[in-house]
Amino acid sequence: MDTEHTATERTATKHTATEHTATQDTAPRDANSKTASSKQGEPSFRKIIHIDMDAFYASVEQRDNPELKGQPVVVGGLPSQRGAVCAASYEARQYGIHSAMPSRSAVQRCEHLIFIKPRFEAYRAVSEQIRAIFFDYTDLVEPLSLDEAYLDVTADKLGIGSAMLIAKQIRDRIRSELQLTASAGVSINKFLAKIASDLNKPDGLSLIAPDQAEAFIEHLPIEEFYGVGPATATKMKALGIHSGADLKSWSQTTLKQAFGKVGGYYYKVARAEDNRPVNPNRIRKSIGAERSFFEDLKQLSEMEIALKKVAEEVHQRLLKNKRNGYTLTLKIKYDNYDTITRARTLETPIREQEEIFQLAKGLLVTNLEKHRPVRLLGITVSNLVSPQPYSQLSLAL
Ligand SMILES: [Mg+2]
Repeated sequence: MDTEHTATERTATKHTATEHTATQDTAPRDANSKTASSKQGEPSFRKIIHIDMDAFYASVEQRDNPELKGQPVVVGGLPSQRGAVCAASYEARQYGIHSAMPSRSAVQRCEHLIFIKPRFEAYRAVSEQIRAIFFDYTDLVEPLSLDEAYLDVTADKLGIGSAMLIAKQIRDRIRSELQLTASAGVSINKFLAKIASDLNKPDGLSLIAPDQAEAFIEHLPIEEFYGVGPATATKMKALGIHSGADLKSWSQTTLKQAFGKVGGYYYKVARAEDNRPVNPNRIRKSIGAERSFFEDLKQLSEMEIALKKVAEEVHQRLLKNKRNGYTLTLKIKYDNYDTITRARTLETPIREQEEIFQLAKGLLVTNLEKHRPVRLLGITVSNLVSPQPYSQLSLAL
């Protein structure tokens, strides 16, 4: 599966923090940016909206095929073909089904679950229609995936008056023009806007105002911090960090000692600080492809054949995106779902299909544990650069 399409759906979590849920009419007058001061010399803040489509792929399928409305629908691979869930409708989520779950487990939870094969071209087309709506309101749009984006509406291109009203108009237009629902979060930075959009999912609109931000973060359970995955959450809890307030009590130095570089990010977001700009030209960080197998592969020769196909796909994507990269990462998933990744970085960008294959093969031969069946192989190229004329490069191999 295309790596850019995985794990974009997050299980909705309902919050009880109703005081953070603004009505549509509450204009965040004070949600103006810290970077520029207003006429009265009061602090002003950026206005950031995070838009997240509700169960995007599944909702598109339900829209395009009315028979699926109200049904537990999963977009993804069939259980018989060892597929995984790409997206689950809200009806399916009631059974505890969520994205990235093996389809086989999903069907165990709901016998009458309906499986739909993904139509990525259709989702891409809808995604472009959504983005066209965004661009009516701001030029600063940073897509995170097909169904999610940050918008910086500080400049208020259309003179609408407030970020909440802009978010409301965007949601209304997505509903009326595309017959889909989106959730939106409004706040003063990306971190808070992203959390806000999740507060009233699906079909919700939430504001975290500047004067609420710090208290809000203090009460936030650690596993709900954007950037804290399940493994990190477990580690934090073992260290006594259960909430934003706990996190805030740690110094930057100790956080970095415990978590490495990302400790600096945790230190800042515990204080509701996030200065990352909304970047409309965000460059992709990696390009990859992977294949899972109907039957586990046991012979190295079979794996090499499969790897050759993956290398071909990665090469095609690099060409399409006009990128080369310095680092190649091989992913091996064994039959028991144990996954390892091994990377090699070269001094010159990787560009040829044969080169991708040979590097991946080398990593496979060196790192594969003998006699362990393999269910998935993947190759990713990262440290991407724009291709340069051949003459400027020396041969890498
Ligand atoms: Mg979504």
